[in-house]
Amino acid sequence: MTHSLSLVGAIKETGFSCTRCGTCCKESEPGSNLVMVGPEEISRIIESSGLSFEDIVEPYPDRIQEGGKDYTFGWVLRRKNDQCMFLERNRCIIYEVRPWICRTYPFMLDNSGLSVHPCEGIRTVNHTEDAQEMALNLEKRLEYEQDQDDKILKILSSHSIPAGKPVVIDAEGIKEYHG
Ligand code: SF4
Repeated sequence: MTHSLSLVGAIKETGFSCTRCGTCCKESEPGSNLVMVGPEEISRIIESSGLSFEDIVEPYPDRIQEGGKDYTFGWVLRRKNDQCMFLERNRCIIYEVRPWICRTYPFMLDNSGLSVHPCEGIRTVNHTEDAQEMALNLEKRLEYEQDQDDKILKILSSHSIPAGKPVVIDAEGIKEYHG
């Protein structure tokens, strides 16, 4: 995939350098540090950490309850004491396999373009180092998220959500959750 020069330019101009404050991994306001993860991201963390699926994730907390159905879309990393379970002494202990959201923070790319979340590392330098790598990661993340959304839409068009038990719908299917 080739990334656009304008995306690289916008990232460079933002002037971001991670201060390793760990703030993005901590909850500063309700839900501020929710990290959504897809099945492949979860598998990578399981492989690297030796932890189980249930150890690592819980359902996305905004559940939809209607007509006896109780469901939500996707998974989020578990948090302990209002911070990501993988943050230890302000360091990510799964850094090599951290999810796309973490890999690309504070940037986000969607169909309306690049946006930048509040972060103390912004404008601390004249231009973002590794802007090309960030652009590439943002584009890969967008592609991954779009693929997840497409798969979920296909599942919803071909399956009905069961009533009477909590389920999580992700890109692999409709899953019962017993956590
Ligand atoms: S996975 Fe790592 S980078 Fe992502 S929120 Fe958790 S500690 Fe922070």
